[in-house]
This record gives sequence, C-alpha cells and structure tokens, in this order.
Amino acid sequence: MIIAIDGPSGAGKSTLGKRLAATFELTYLDTGAMYRAVGLAALRVGLDENDRDAIETVSEGLRIELPGTGADLRVLLNGEDVTERIRSKDVSHMASVVSTIPGVRTLLVKRQRQIGRSAGNGAVLDGRDIGSVVFPDADYKFYLTAGTENRARRRYLEDKDRGRDTSYEQTLNEIIERDERDATREFSPLVKAEDAIEIDTSDLNVDEVFEKMARIIRDSAKGSAGLENNAVK
Ligand code: C5P
Repeated sequence: MIIAIDGPSGAGKSTLGKRLAATFELTYLDTGAMYRAVGLAALRVGLDENDRDAIETVSEGLRIELPGTGADLRVLLNGEDVTERIRSKDVSHMASVVSTIPGVRTLLVKRQRQIGRSAGNGAVLDGRDIGSVVFPDADYKFYLTAGTENRARRRYLEDKDRGRDTSYEQTLNEIIERDERDATREFSPLVKAEDAIEIDTSDLNVDEVFEKMARIIRDSAKGSAGLENNAVK
C-alpha cells in the first residue's frame, strides 16, 4: 500500500505521515529530507545556488540514507548523521533551490520509488510531487493545506521548541518564498493531484486530521485483502 501526502510547507505532512505509518505499520519516507541532504551537500562544497550543473553533479555522488522509525528517524549523508543540521535555515533555502533542478529530481524520484516499492507492508511518502509524479497510482492521496500564517506559526513554534534561533516574521517570509518557488518551478511544481483528497488543516488539531485520514483509509479498506494485516482496529 502506498499513501501519498503532498502539500506546502508547514501543513502537517510529516507529523501526520509518521503517525499514519506507525498506525498502519508502513515505512515512512520524508522526501523533503532527501532534497535537504542534497542542499547541505551543495553548501558544504561551497556551490553557488545558481550553479545548477555543479549541484546536479554533486547530487549524483551522494549516499543518502533514512534509517530508523518513529521518533528515531535519522538522515545520513555519506554515512554522517545530518538529521538536525538539515533543518537549519540555510539548508531549507538551498533545498528549495536544488529541488528546482530536473536532474536532481529525477535522481531522487528514482530512489523514492525504489524505497516505496521495496517497503514490506508499503509506505507513506510525504512531499510535493508524490501523488502527481512519484506514485501517481498511490492507493491513497492526500493534499494537506493550511493558511500561510497558520503554517508559519506552526513552523515557528516547532523551531522555537527545538531551540532554533528564529522569529515569526522570518519564518513567515521563508515560507512565502519557498511556497512561491515550489508552485512556480518548471519541473514538477507543487500541484494537488486530481484524485487527491484535500484537507485544510487550519482549524483542526493533529488528532482531528489524523482521524479524518485514518478513517478514509480504514473505510475504503474494509474487506480489502491488502490491508487486513495492518488495518487499524
Ligand atoms: O518538506 P521539506 O520542507 O522538508 O522539503 C524541503 C524542500 O524540498 C522544499 O522546500 C521543497 O521545495 C522540496 N521538496 C520537493 N519535492 C518533494 C519534497 C520536498 O520539491 N517531494
């Protein structure tokens, strides 16, 4: 079973994705973390964000691994644990830039498909193009949205909670900038797949969104052999 979760930054994709994966015993894949790892690698070798060919070349030589489950998910770049480092502002910016490079996307999409297909029970993937490009035939497609200020507030509180140096204004501006780049890039822009179920999470708490999503999966899976082993009781 493949569950695709797409939507803009801060809509709750990773929180919900992890929870669905734990509940339905699926592998969780944060595809944004892969773009972030490429962004970090590009920064480390001192590449300019406009040097797209060099970024693509760097991306081809990387080993990106995402071991662990639940709260213990890690991101390894060439064997080094970069889980925390890739959440910094400079990497967020660079990830957004590298994600506009077709060669980088092609490479990562291929890897995402491999991980999704080889996952035992199946996988939950969160990103921007999962339901539209990576797994257009996903069993469930969700598109999570929320108002810009709402998303910025959540991201700001999350960052503050983790002790990151930030301000609400800065977070809001970054979200606006990344939204714009996601929506307007030529190759695989952020779009809601036609058959995706859109959920506006602005006025819902995490439990409410989770219940909505889990109910959709449970209801449509009733009697379906594929889910019998890992359905929510
Ligand atoms: O989801 P997250 O914010 O960690 O993603 C980092 C960046 O990677 C985003 O700004 C987005 O532009 C890009 N991305 C993407 N396609 C995906 C996942 C993330 O373009 N499937």
